[in-house]
Order: sequence, then C-alpha cells, then structure tokens
Amino acid sequence: MQLPATCDYLIVGAGSAGCVLANRLSANAEVHVVLVEAGPPDDSWLIRTPAAVGALIKHPRYNWNFQTVPQTHLAGRRIPMPRGKVLGGTSSINGMVYIRGHASDYTEWERAGGQGWGYPDLLPYFLRSERNEAWPSSAFHSTAGPMNVTSIRPHNPLVDRFLEAACSLDFPACEDFNAASMDGFGPRQATIRGGLRESMATAFLRPVRHRRNLTVLTDCFVRRIVIEEGRSAGVELEREGSVHRVGARIETILSAGSFGSPAILMHSGIGNEQFLRTLGIKVHRHAPEVGENLQDHLATSILMRTNSPESYGLSWRALPRAIGTVAEYLLLRRGPLASNVFEAHGFVRSDPGLTLPDLQIIFMPAFRNPSGFPIPLGHGYGINVALLAPRSRGRVMLTGPDPRAQPSIDPNFLGESSDLPPLVHGLKLARRLLYAPAFAPFKSHEVAPGPQAQDDAALEEHVRSSCGTVFHPVGTCRMGGDEMSVVDAQLRVRGIQGLRVADASVFPKQIRGNTNAPVVMVAEKAADMILGRSPPAPVDPRAAGV
Ligand SMILES: Cc1cc2nc3c(=O)[nH]c(=O)nc-3n(C[C@H](O)[C@H](O)[C@H](O)COP(=O)(O)OP(=O)(O)OC[C@H]3O[C@@H](n4cnc5c(N)ncnc54)[C@H](O)[C@@H]3O)c2cc1C
Repeated sequence: MQLPATCDYLIVGAGSAGCVLANRLSANAEVHVVLVEAGPPDDSWLIRTPAAVGALIKHPRYNWNFQTVPQTHLAGRRIPMPRGKVLGGTSSINGMVYIRGHASDYTEWERAGGQGWGYPDLLPYFLRSERNEAWPSSAFHSTAGPMNVTSIRPHNPLVDRFLEAACSLDFPACEDFNAASMDGFGPRQATIRGGLRESMATAFLRPVRHRRNLTVLTDCFVRRIVIEEGRSAGVELEREGSVHRVGARIETILSAGSFGSPAILMHSGIGNEQFLRTLGIKVHRHAPEVGENLQDHLATSILMRTNSPESYGLSWRALPRAIGTVAEYLLLRRGPLASNVFEAHGFVRSDPGLTLPDLQIIFMPAFRNPSGFPIPLGHGYGINVALLAPRSRGRVMLTGPDPRAQPSIDPNFLGESSDLPPLVHGLKLARRLLYAPAFAPFKSHEVAPGPQAQDDAALEEHVRSSCGTVFHPVGTCRMGGDEMSVVDAQLRVRGIQGLRVADASVFPKQIRGNTNAPVVMVAEKAADMILGRSPPAPVDPRAAGV
C-alpha cells in the first residue's frame, strides 16, 4: 500500500487503545485517520483460539519479547515483559480477562489531578465499549458496545473446588467483579466472542476497516514524532528499510503502550533534557518524568502436581478427552479451547485493617511447566498471587540514539520493601486454599515452593527467586494536574501542540485489576476529548444502592 503523505489524525500503535481511537475518530467521514502499527496483521489461528494464549507469550513474530534489566531485589533476574506487536497489540496476546479495577482507583486518579477521571465520570465510557452477554439488565453493564464480554461456561471442574475452598475459609462469593463490590471469589469474565478471542482489533478495528477515511498501515515502525515550532507535524516512520514522513494536520496520538510511548517521546526530543543531550537527541521539551513512574503487578505462585486428569493438560489418560476437545472446538467453537484457562479468582486484603483489596488470588486449573513450554504437560493446578497496589516505582529509559534499540526497562520490583509482606501473606493464604478439603480427592503434592518452605524467610526467598509479573506495566507518561506530569487531564503532552498520549502509559497510578478494560476506557474518553465532544453525564449506580 502506498503511504499517505498526510492525514488529519495520526495514531501511533494499533494496540488496545489505538484500535478504539481508530474506530471512534474515523466515525466522522469528513476526517482522514491513519493508524500505524509496527507489527503484522493478526491473521493467525493462535491469536484467535483463546486457549492458545500460552503460545503467544514468547511468540517471535507477534511479540516484542522485552525483558527487564536484572532486578536487584529479585536475585538479579531479568523478568520477561511480553507486549503484543501485531494488530490489536497486547490485546491480541493477552489473557482476555475482563476487569475494570476498583472504583476507588479512579478517585485516586482524580486526586492526582485527572479532573473528570473519577469513577462516576468513567463508568459511561466502560459501558460505551462493552457488549456483555451475561448481565443484560445491570446498571453496571451494557449490551450495546463493540467489545464482547462473556462468562466462560462450562469452566474446568477444578474451578468449583477452588470456589468451594474459598467458601470453606469464609470468603464471600462475588458474582460480578465489575459491579458494586469486587471483594470475594468467583469466576472471571473474558473478552471472547463465539469461542474466539475478542481482541481490540476484532472488536473495534475489523468492523470499520472498510471506511474510506481510515488507512491502516502494518509493518511500519514509527521512529519519532516530527516537531516543528513546538507542534507535532506528524511522524517519521520506517517501512522495509526506508524512512518516510506522514504528516498530521490536526493531531498525532501516541498509543504505543507503556514502553513504546515514552520511548518515542524521548526519541522525539521530549524527556529529560540532560539525558537526551548525552544521546545527541535535539531537545524540544524538558519533561523529566517521561519514562518514570513505571508500575506493574508482581506475582508469585504455588504449584501442585496430581495424577488426576481433571486439570487442563496433556497425558495418556487425558488423550481421548483431548481429541474430543479439539473436535468440539473445531465443530462448535466450544469447550476448553474456547477458554482463557485462568477462569476464576478472588480479591482479598492481606491485612483486615485495609480498606481496599491488595491481592488478586488467581486460580490456574493447569500445571505451569517450569520450562515455560506453552502446553501443560501432565496434570496439576496452582494459584498465582498478584500484588495489586505496589509502592515500588521504576522507569523506562533509552539505551542509545537508535529508535530500534530495546529501551531499558527497570520496574524496580520490591524496591519498596513494604511490597514483600503482602505477597508472603498471599502465599500462605493460597496454601490454605489448596490444602482445603475441597482439593483432598486430587491427592496432589506441592512442587513450588515445596513443603519445606514454611517460615516467612523461606517464602520471601521463594518470591525473590521465582516471581514474575502478570504483565500490567503502566504509568510511564503520567497524567496529572501538576506541571511535572507528562500529559494533562486532556491527555495533551505538556508544552507541545497537537500531540496526545492515550494508552496504559498515562495511568497516574496502577489500578486494582487487569488493565485492558481500563485502557479501552482511556481511549474512549480520549476520543471524546480529541473530537471536542462533551463528556457523558456521570453515573454511579453504587450511589443509588444498586
Ligand atoms: C501475556 C499478557 C497477558 C495479559 N492478560 C491480560 C488480561 O487477561 N486482561 C487484561 O485486562 N489485561 C491483560 N494484559 C494487559 C493488557 O493487555 C494491556 O494492559 C493492554 O493491552 C495495553 O494496551 P495499550 O494500548 O497500552 O498497549 P498495546 O496494546 O501494547 O499497544 C501498543 C501498540 O503499539 C505498537 N507500537 C509500539 N511501538 C511502536 C512503534 N515505534 N511504531 C509503531 N507501532 C508501535 C505495538 O506493536 C502495539 O501494537 C496482559 C498482557 C500480557 C502481555
């Protein structure tokens, strides 16, 4: 396809946010929208099949396969940081769980200077994007949006054991984690449609690809924003080894994600002046917080082995069932292959004095191979414990002047020592759940951390030596009301005209939950702001006691 010389709105990155923006901005046939993506089209059955999620986590074609720098507090380990490099971005490789976070998370965003970013302001945007199959008449849900959300049915039988164990420990059941309260345990909802992954490309981009005023460019790597007289004039991009310029008459919107967006800003001369000069990059705006404030959900796990074949996994005993599973999926798009595998979880407090949940307890009805092999070999189950409100803050930095070089990613995990005790508490709770009578029939044994790890010191060692992340990096182009924030409450890059950021990087603070739905919400609101539309009236069904 020939590259357009110019357009009205240019969006960098066809990930979760970029696909939403392309849909909403191109709804006006009077404007020309160009969406630029570094990765290829999303035409793979691995992307479409929900249970193939494990095969994408290190995929050489659809994943940037970033890694952190060695983590001082995690025994010097580098932690994998997968990010989607394909139409749909990370929503094309993610776990598809649909969670919005706690309403109070957004009170904190508002407090950080994000005027208009409180929960009642944002609920209309969550509703605008959602087509929820499960709750057609709930004030917390909508059936009219483009993104299909479904409850996974039937779920793996082990999920019932997990929920029974939680109940036996007196935890409340939670039917809907996106309604009035997220406390308790229950099955999760997922962005799946008719047994196929609902990425943000299938939900928002595919239905509007025919629009004549929308141009989608794949395999085009954006090197930098072109800034002329303090204003974004478009981008410089690389395709098949040649460098081109595509202009933007009205606005350029960066939606390249928590690593891509700050890296592009810095390569464009927006960042810490002193640092950029050392790389020989011409400075357009001293913005020392670009790349700072990186936050992610650290997670540690307990793994159990069993001979019982109920869990998802390959074995001779489960072979007839596996053949049936493939046939069922091919014929009916149903069954285990239509599931995102991680089907239930709970939100709990590590300390009863806390006002909000600080741990997500995620049940895995499959054995996770320590080798990282994507298909579970043999049988087992486990729990992943994720820290929801980390205090540690890290940063993303350039490693040199070459825009193609991987940035240095340092989440500084456990940099704040107060992040460790809740995880140790979570491991103890996970053990109580996995050793509850509900799991007794499986005659399982613990393989990690192992029964010898009993005291706090041993569990701390387990966290440091084996924890990872649940892949929710945010915050590197922080939104705020203060002059130091990278973008203002309208998501405009401070000091540069015609340039916004809309993706996970603008979160001022991490939310309590998975991050895709909040990113989609950010992009929905960004579209209104870009088009100069008044925001919808705030709604808060909690206030009405719903
Ligand atoms: C393995 C995994 C599992 C996850 N599971 C869940 C889950 O179950 N539920 C959930 O809610 N969240 C989950 N997440 C997180 C969630 O998917 C992300 O928070 C969300 O997709 C981020 O959206 P984004 O728009 O900020 O960035 P992305 O979706 O990453 O989009 C950025 C896009 O920009 C492109 N890009 C970057 N640099 C350039 C450049 N220089 N030029 C051109 N294009 C560029 C990228 O290729 C990408 O397509 C998961 C993430 C991972 C990695």
